[in-house]
Amino acid sequence: MVAAHYDVVVVGAGGDGPVAAWKLGEAGLSVLVLEAGPFYGNEQWPKPNEQPGAESSSSVDDLSGRLLDEQFTTRELEMIRKLVFGPADHERGFWLRKFPGDGAILQCAGVGGTTLHYTGCHPRAYPASIDEQPHWPVDYADLVPYYREIEAMCEVTPAPVTAKEELFFRGAAAAGWDLIDGLNVTEPGYRPQPNAIRQPDPRLHVDAGYDGDFTYPEVDGDTLALGSIAGHPFPRGAPYEEKAKRASNVSFVPAALRTGNVTVRPNAFVTSIETETAGNDHPEATGVRFRDTWSGRVESVDCEVLVLAAGAIETPRLWLNADLPKNEWVGRGMTIHFGDNVMGLWDAADLESSIGQDTVDQFQGQDIAARFDYPGLGMLQTVGTAPGIGAILGFGSSASGFAFENDPDDAPWDTLGRLAGSELKRLLSGYRRTLQVLVVSDDRPHRRNGVTVVPGVEDEHGPIPLVNYEPSTGDRQRRDRLAEIAAEILRAAGASHVHRSDSPPTALHVHSTMAMGKVVDEACEAYDVGRLFVADHSALANGVGGANPTNTGQALAARTADKIVERYFAG
Ligand SMILES: Cc1cc2nc3c(=O)[nH]c(=O)nc-3n(C[C@H](O)[C@H](O)[C@H](O)COP(=O)(O)OP(=O)(O)OC[C@H]3O[C@@H](n4cnc5c(N)ncnc54)[C@H](O)[C@@H]3O)c2cc1C
Repeated sequence: MVAAHYDVVVVGAGGDGPVAAWKLGEAGLSVLVLEAGPFYGNEQWPKPNEQPGAESSSSVDDLSGRLLDEQFTTRELEMIRKLVFGPADHERGFWLRKFPGDGAILQCAGVGGTTLHYTGCHPRAYPASIDEQPHWPVDYADLVPYYREIEAMCEVTPAPVTAKEELFFRGAAAAGWDLIDGLNVTEPGYRPQPNAIRQPDPRLHVDAGYDGDFTYPEVDGDTLALGSIAGHPFPRGAPYEEKAKRASNVSFVPAALRTGNVTVRPNAFVTSIETETAGNDHPEATGVRFRDTWSGRVESVDCEVLVLAAGAIETPRLWLNADLPKNEWVGRGMTIHFGDNVMGLWDAADLESSIGQDTVDQFQGQDIAARFDYPGLGMLQTVGTAPGIGAILGFGSSASGFAFENDPDDAPWDTLGRLAGSELKRLLSGYRRTLQVLVVSDDRPHRRNGVTVVPGVEDEHGPIPLVNYEPSTGDRQRRDRLAEIAAEILRAAGASHVHRSDSPPTALHVHSTMAMGKVVDEACEAYDVGRLFVADHSALANGVGGANPTNTGQALAARTADKIVERYFAG
């Protein structure tokens, strides 16, 4: 049974919550982590989607690589269904979150949260996105020691280069861009992706002649088998903590449990925040109420400090559904890295003469292993996908309708929009000679964008988040410029056909809905509610310039844990 009182309760065991729990546990505080979704790879829940299992886990000995191997397959659709944002018992359906237009909110429930699906890209924020924005109450330099701590835990290293990365780098160099050296990026250029994925086993090197079956202990570290966005069980047979992709379930969660001070309770959906108001009219958080998603039983737990880490959609939802003071920025200012997709198709002979083989074979190597940074605009990254997902992202949806309705005219792409008929067939049958580039723009916080709740539009946990997103003219211009650069790079790499999707907005990276400087202070404690801290991507004051956000969210969560200890538990 979990206790009735803890020093700290952390809501959410996703990308950032376990970082805070680990640091607080290391400081000797008793910590309860409440997670809405299931706990995969834990002996306490041998059949996590079929039976309620135990109540909680406090020991690293509960973690089992063997169980994770049973529960995580390499079949993408099956894993997408498994990690859906919903209760462990999938018979009960998922938790509906409506996003405008054809886009979707991509978030996962379960210990590890959305890092169960993430591709492990772990760059730092662009310094200017923090230092040149007046609303960030911290400096980039303040985060650097925390970045180092997170990067060491996640084993961040430059991704290995396979054909798709080599092609991209050749194109970027031919288009006149420089190779970026170092982690603090201030100028545009290209570089291998700093990934939180263990380096490939040397036996897998091209000339090492390995012909084994990619199973631990024959292969340790990354097997270079695409599939990070499907839970990533590689290498098969490896102990729980030695899986190659350093998602928070295999990195920070074991570290937190090892402190001996942290308990994780999955299948526990927090529904309300409890407060008390002292003499000065300033409410203070005292605990939460949560609902067991198997039994429906509602329980409560008290704490000295409450940490919200339920993600940038659910954290503001919790605030808005609680009886807390009004702050006009709660839920607002959401950024999503308004994205797009640009694809290149090569003729076999051109590939042969540039990279020495007549296919790109984007299914080889790490999913996302090459990037182009442009502080002030955002970034580009190559994406290796299986044909089905690549087709959906690259050709299957568009805000510009069908390609045959558009005349790209003088544009740097040959086709724009959704593909159909013979053109779709031509590009799809060239799958092994295509390369996809994801455009990730530096969209800025606007108050109209974000989360609201409306009484009456509810699920079993109360009013659901209603999400609004409309990019500004500036956001669109930055995305257009990045799409042009992507096309120029692909063309300079010799692509014979370039296609732009004009993808509808999709919430892939979600941040800044409880922004520092607006909702929380420089320690990430809420201005309006004492003892209530935010330690997830919602506390980021913007989209960190377009860089993948998890390194920064985790660095900030680590810093927030230190601040909690300083403010409330020192001495
Ligand atoms: C396909 C994909 C690929 C990605 N790749 C990358 C990448 O390579 N690099 C990168 O930096 N980012 C990537 N991201 C984004 C990244 O995964 C997220 O930005 C990150 O996980 C966010 O961390 P978080 O802690 O804010 O939220 P989450 O990781 O979403 O964690 C929130 C947790 O809180 C739980 N929760 C929610 N509500 C409640 C409640 N009321 N009570 C209890 N628990 C609750 C959720 O179940 C979840 O586990 C990717 C995302 C997707 C979908």
